[in-house]
Amino acid sequence: MECAPAETDFVVIGAGIAGLRAAIELASAGRVVVLAKRELKDSATQGGIAAALSDEDEISLHLQDTLNAGDGLCNPEAARALVEDAPERIEELIQWGTEFDRGGTKLTFGREGAHSRNRILHAHGDSTGREIFRTLLAKAKTLKQISVCEFEFTTDLCIEDGRVRGVHLINSSGETGHIAASSVLLASGGMGQLYCNTTNPPVATGDGVAMAFRSGAEISDMEFIQFHPTALYLKNAPRFLLSEALRGEGAYLRNLEMHRFMPKYHPMGELAPRDVVARAILHELEVSPAKDPVVYLDLTHLKASHVKARFPRIYSTCFQYNIDITTDLIPIRPAAHYAMGGVRTDLQGRTSLPALYAAGEAATTGVHGANRLASNSLLEGLVFGARAGRKMRDELRHGPAKARSKPRVAYSNGPVDAGLEELVREMQELMWDEVGIVRDGARLKRAIEHLEKLTPRVAHPKMRRSCEASNIHTAGLLVARSALAREESRGAHYRIDFSAHDDKKFLKHSIVKGDSIWFA
Ligand SMILES: Cc1cc2nc3c(=O)[nH]c(=O)nc-3n(C[C@H](O)[C@H](O)[C@H](O)COP(=O)(O)OP(=O)(O)OC[C@H]3O[C@@H](n4cnc5c(N)ncnc54)[C@H](O)[C@@H]3O)c2cc1C
Repeated sequence: MECAPAETDFVVIGAGIAGLRAAIELASAGRVVVLAKRELKDSATQGGIAAALSDEDEISLHLQDTLNAGDGLCNPEAARALVEDAPERIEELIQWGTEFDRGGTKLTFGREGAHSRNRILHAHGDSTGREIFRTLLAKAKTLKQISVCEFEFTTDLCIEDGRVRGVHLINSSGETGHIAASSVLLASGGMGQLYCNTTNPPVATGDGVAMAFRSGAEISDMEFIQFHPTALYLKNAPRFLLSEALRGEGAYLRNLEMHRFMPKYHPMGELAPRDVVARAILHELEVSPAKDPVVYLDLTHLKASHVKARFPRIYSTCFQYNIDITTDLIPIRPAAHYAMGGVRTDLQGRTSLPALYAAGEAATTGVHGANRLASNSLLEGLVFGARAGRKMRDELRHGPAKARSKPRVAYSNGPVDAGLEELVREMQELMWDEVGIVRDGARLKRAIEHLEKLTPRVAHPKMRRSCEASNIHTAGLLVARSALAREESRGAHYRIDFSAHDDKKFLKHSIVKGDSIWFA
């Protein structure tokens, strides 16, 4: 892959769905540098992408389902943009070569939790994200104006005269540098690595949100973290996602005593909403006498040939860890999965900082409100990536600037301080214990105090990993502060000390900027 130049027209931080889609839009207006902090990798989806394209569906129904999932907090204009742009974005992907699954010549549409119609497109069964990523990367490679650079770690934004002028970075050899640009798009993905249990890849350390916050941008809705109820829980194995579709096919949840426990928590049993299932599992874990308790997902009563054919990736992944899901119980726990909050943008991806744009999971347009509807996030990356790209292109008035501002610190790729991984682990466990699935004021205050005490240890990052530790710390504090300020329960944010909605005070988005936090 090409190396990052000293100046360009546009910098895109992130080579996922949102970043690549934006880059394709930008290529007609100037040079685009797309940065990835590690090797290029698709998102490990198991579900699909939603779009109201089938004969039995309507855009207004997709909109309504999205608003319902958001628990009163969606920005209706953003949700409307999402569902209205969806068909065009999907048609375009098909033209560029995406092979969505079909029955004969017709696209097939699956159903997922909280969707009132069959509207989920899949590609190669459970590899939708991978197929979309493949298509976008192939398309980007045909456009000479786009350079995609791997192992270029963006450490901070360059700000001059109140305007973003480029980025500071550190490459794989530990050399520091900067790229001057007329505008920058943050498409750096999520922040699941704030938690010790997460389905997210290692790159998801909240870098974009932390960078934007340090530069003075507004950050919104950080209290809303979606926890997935069922992730594989094995020592030395990643928290591999075990899709809701398994329960849709009839899988049971059992506790250590082998009791099916969900019916006592919700009339829909295993098919109750995600947050209800996650809290029920947490409760079972808390009351269990075992030292490192788990609960189990049980598919053993389902037809083995059907399970293998329907879930090939899940079957083979679990098999790598000596679990045959057709005959063995799968040990699971909940895990942090998706961040509804992020850098606050308008419907064109503009943030509160001039020349800074954001799209995808790093951004918040308010499209997901307090809870994301399944299969809407790949779509969000496409729709708002394209919109942000268009706006950046239209606003290309300022030529590439000379980035004169100094980076925060001198970076190097020197040896990792022995205590660093312990420090990261300490923050991740703290977030899990005190800012997790079930929250209360006392624990949130404790978490904030604890994180603040750690500030000196993350204040002067010298290398990539310590930058990530600093970003986890910053983003963690933002989640904890926002969760403390929202004195109600809504969507994915659940507080036992304020267990109901408070529409009068909190039917609003939280916004953080510097030391201030407010609702609007
Ligand atoms: C296991 C799993 C299953 C999922 N299943 C589905 C599904 O079925 N349907 C659905 O709609 N959504 C699903 N999601 C959510 C969806 O995959 C993500 O929300 C989406 O892929 C995010 O795309 P993105 O473009 O915003 O970021 P990403 O695809 O995460 O890309 C982020 C990019 O930013 C780069 N980056 C980050 N920090 C830096 C830095 N400091 N410097 C340089 N580069 C940086 C990374 O290297 C990467 O290239 C799933 C998520 C997970 C974890």
